[in-house]
This record gives sequence, C-alpha cells and structure tokens, in this order.
Amino acid sequence: MSNYGKGTLCIQAGYTPKVGEPRITPIVQSTTYKYDDIAQVNRVMTLQEFGYKYSRTGNPTVTAFEEKVRILEGGAAAVATASGQAANVLALTNILKEGDHAVSATTLYGGSFSLFNNTLKKYGIETSFFETEQPEEEIAALFRPNTKVLFGETIGNPGLNILDFDKLSRLARRFDVPFIVDNTLATPVLCNPFLHGANIVTHSASKYIDGHATSIGGIVIDGGNYDWNNGKFPDITEPDPTYYGARYTEKFPKAPYLAKARAQFLRDFGACLSPQNAFLFTLGLETLHLRMRAHRENALALATFLTDHPRVTFVGYPGLDALGRERIAKYFLKDAGSGVLTFGLSGGIEAIDLFVKKLKVAALVVHVGDARTSVLHPASSTHAQLTEEQQRASGITPDMIRVSVGIEDTKDIVEDFEQALQ
Ligand SMILES: *Cc1c(COP(=O)(O)O)cnc(C)c1O
Repeated sequence: MSNYGKGTLCIQAGYTPKVGEPRITPIVQSTTYKYDDIAQVNRVMTLQEFGYKYSRTGNPTVTAFEEKVRILEGGAAAVATASGQAANVLALTNILKEGDHAVSATTLYGGSFSLFNNTLKKYGIETSFFETEQPEEEIAALFRPNTKVLFGETIGNPGLNILDFDKLSRLARRFDVPFIVDNTLATPVLCNPFLHGANIVTHSASKYIDGHATSIGGIVIDGGNYDWNNGKFPDITEPDPTYYGARYTEKFPKAPYLAKARAQFLRDFGACLSPQNAFLFTLGLETLHLRMRAHRENALALATFLTDHPRVTFVGYPGLDALGRERIAKYFLKDAGSGVLTFGLSGGIEAIDLFVKKLKVAALVVHVGDARTSVLHPASSTHAQLTEEQQRASGITPDMIRVSVGIEDTKDIVEDFEQALQ
C-alpha cells in the first residue's frame, strides 16, 4: 500500500474487504464483542492476544480510520480520540507526569496553549515556550534535565508560520526527547512530519480530515522511530502492574508508546472516538487530496487579492512570503500552503464587525478546514482568554481576521470579500 500516491491511499487505505464483505467500511455500532470461553477473554484483556473487547479501547470502524491516517502519515500505529484536544492531551500525558517539563512553540491553537499554560501546570507539568524563529541556541537553553517533550504545530494556528523541522528535530535529538507535531492544518496530504524528524504526530480530525464540519475527533500517530530505552520513560519501558507486569517495549516493540496510550489512556480517561464519527472521517479522507488542492488555489487567489487592497494592513499566508515558500518546498509533499490565511483590517473592531456582517458567501464561525469559507476574529474568540501580550506571542494582533478559505468557486469568494471590504 505504502508505495501508492496520496490520492490512492486517501481512497483505498485502511480497509480491504474480503469476499462478500461490504465495499465501504461498515459502521459497527456496538459497544461489545462476543467470546466463547473465559480463557479467550482473559488473553484479550491481558494484552496477550489482540481482540476487540469494548469499544472504548477499540472498534472496527475506528480501526479503519486509524489505519487510513496511519498509512497516510507513514507511522507505525495510531489511536483515534474523541477530539483533537483529546489527541494532544493523550500525546502529552502519555509521557508527562508531575515534575516533568515540556518545551513548546508559542504559536499554538488556543486550546493547546491553554493546556500547556494552565491545565498541565496544575498537574505539576511546567512548559517553557519559544518563538519558532528564535535561534537554535536560545531554544536549546530552555531544555532541562527533566524535559520530556518538544512540541509544535506544522503550521501554527493562527500565526501560520511553518515549523523549521531541521532545527527542531536537531534539538529533540540533542536532548533526546520525543518531538510531537500537531499536523492538523497541513494534513497528511501536504506534509508528513515523520519524514522530518517528528516522533509523534497528532491531528484534530474535526478540520480538513472531516472536511464538512460534521464531527469532532482526533488521532495520535506513533512514528515508531523513538528509542524509549533511555531511562527517561519508565512507564513505557518498565512492567505495567495494571497489565500483569507487561512491558510495552517488549510486547509492542514497533510502537510501545502507542500501545501504552491505548491500553492506559483510553481505558482510564476514556476519550475514545465514536464509530459514526470514524465513518464520517473515513468518508472525508477519501476526497482530502482533491479538497486540499482546491482550498490552496482559493487561498492563494484570495491572499493575492487582499495584498493589494488599501484597507488591508497585512496578509499572512505561507505561500506568499519567501520563507514560507522555502519551507513548503523543503517540508511539504506538494507545492502548496493550506487553506487558512489571515489579514489585518484597518478601522478597529467596528470596521471588523461591519465587514463580517456584510459577507454573504463566507460566514462567521469558530472553525477552520471545512468546505465552506469562514471567518473569525481570533482576538475576541478562540484566543480571547489570553492577555494581549500572550495573543501577540501566539501570532495574533487585534486587527487580525482569520479566513478558512473554502472550496466554493474562486470568483465568488474573492467578490464576496471585495464587496464586504467596500
Ligand atoms: C482545532 C484544533 C485542535 C483541537 O481540535 P478539536 O477537534 O477542536 O478538539 C488542535 N490543534 C489544532 C491545530 C487545531 O486547529
């Protein structure tokens, strides 16, 4: 499968029916699975044998979705979660505990920034933040003996900066910590972070993977390319008493991190994906390669139009500036940015409010990455809980409007913005 192109994988990977079985991944709407004898159930429950037992820790429809994304990302194993936030919580808390330290980019999705800055702190996990373009040695100075993870987003939301994977993966290797990348905005069609030194990849499936704004979900993919046997992660390498002393590194040598995530996190925290949503994500993934091309064409056209407009103070889009283009050429599988852009509108909050009210094709919604064009004012919505200083650190200015450019006709989108700006 893995030598096929992205389009073929988007459509075919993850589910191969046998003779007489449904062509399309069926929705297995069942919490439980039947067994014949007690010894069999015991083997499944103690991780000696694979088998579905209860849909909190695994379900065939969810497996098909996990497999499709795993193959698209080129990872070793994947686990789906109830939301993108749950995916990041899982990815981090699977290895961080009280007394540990994280190093993270500041330009993060609002929920992720808050997770590091507030919630993890309350659990005794501290985070040091860096600006993505800070020199390597300045970021290196943030690492401590108890640092256990390096975190960033491929395309920061909504700063839209593309990570310097070379610099960050060098730092992760130098300090021997896993490098976790949230690849939501780039999608596995545009960028595969495992090719550039990432060890764990997360997605909010609620965005481009769904593509139609129907469902909330997330996924964590283990690259299987980090050696956990360095004494820093005893919860992965030492016997787990809750599974009769099983060692994840022994039982699941290809992806012990992921095995632990499924066995412990899904069991204890329970943030699993529903089969219905997995089905819709699988359907969405079948057109991801086509949609990303259309999102990108429309985003470039709108960005170009906005750049020349007298009321527009700046336009942010990775396909526009030289650094963004260089990073796309280096790290992206396609010569493409994503479908999200930002721009500044002069005239204060009143002007922004009036502009938003005048839009007809685009709508004001708290979302990115679906087929419909949408706009948002991050400073008063997704990032409203941050101080203005924290907002600026996250790449947000008071005049910034974020646009998730949809896949309607290019002309209709550009004309809509033109009349609203008028
Ligand atoms: C939306 C988003 C999340 C959170 O995902 P949900 O599915 O909304 O919980 C995390 N990271 C990024 C980059 C996002 O855009």
